[in-house]
Amino acid sequence: MNYNNNINRRKFLGFVGCCACGLMIPSCSTVPITERRQLTLFPESYLNNQAYQLYEKVKKKTKLSDDKKTLSEIKEIGRRIEESVSAYFDSTNQPDPTYNFQWEYILIDNEKIKNAWCLPGGKIAVYTGILKITKNKDGLAAVMGHEIAHAVAKHSIERASRSLLLNVGTTAADIFSGGAISRTSRATGVDVAGMLKTFGIENPFGRKQESEADYLGLIFSSLSGYDIRESIKIWERMKEEYKGQEPPEWMSTHPSSSKRILSLRKWIPEIIIEYPPIKKIS
Ligand SMILES: [Zn+2]
Repeated sequence: MNYNNNINRRKFLGFVGCCACGLMIPSCSTVPITERRQLTLFPESYLNNQAYQLYEKVKKKTKLSDDKKTLSEIKEIGRRIEESVSAYFDSTNQPDPTYNFQWEYILIDNEKIKNAWCLPGGKIAVYTGILKITKNKDGLAAVMGHEIAHAVAKHSIERASRSLLLNVGTTAADIFSGGAISRTSRATGVDVAGMLKTFGIENPFGRKQESEADYLGLIFSSLSGYDIRESIKIWERMKEEYKGQEPPEWMSTHPSSSKRILSLRKWIPEIIIEYPPIKKIS
């Protein structure tokens, strides 16, 4: 598998990255399935707690969609992914990275934003703007699988840890001391979008993490019984949507659409065989 061909090199690079923190706190973990080593300087529980507070604020400050049909579709896809992720780790005798997640789903009424995210701990938001790109359940499952993969692989902890290590950690330190969250409590000037950015949710992750989320997302969608070939079509529709314009910020530092489609094409046939639907989910 192409992804695995790089694993030794990835492991090596991860090891070097992790060793850099040896003098501070020797704290590393391993991303499930890809086995990439990552730096983990913050306890997950603390990060999740901050994320839950932020999610509550998002729910209060944004306009939630009253499209109940789509929301229940999102919840249904989410439930299937939740169950198959846990079932997969159980069946392979590995610790379930989502055991402490408190899954929750919202649909935000904003046609302009073609995005979705999953905060640490399983708090998910889909913007109505992305629905015309995802088009169907398989498409929605592909996007949700990708976002959930960021949370399963604990990419937010990794990013915060790295920025702390690189001594550009004022933002990270602010988040983890609760400062950034408490400021959003002010009666005026509450800026949920800005807050999400500070928290690193609407900022793109690094290429390594994005590629890993694509890969894991395909696996989770496939385990859940969705047609993962739809992911290629999403990226084609995304390319079409932004033809001749600046792509949205999160997309511009994602790997380019063409490169992304190329990786998906390589992974999909193997994943369909290696990660078939894990069980009959009602
Ligand atoms: Zn992503």
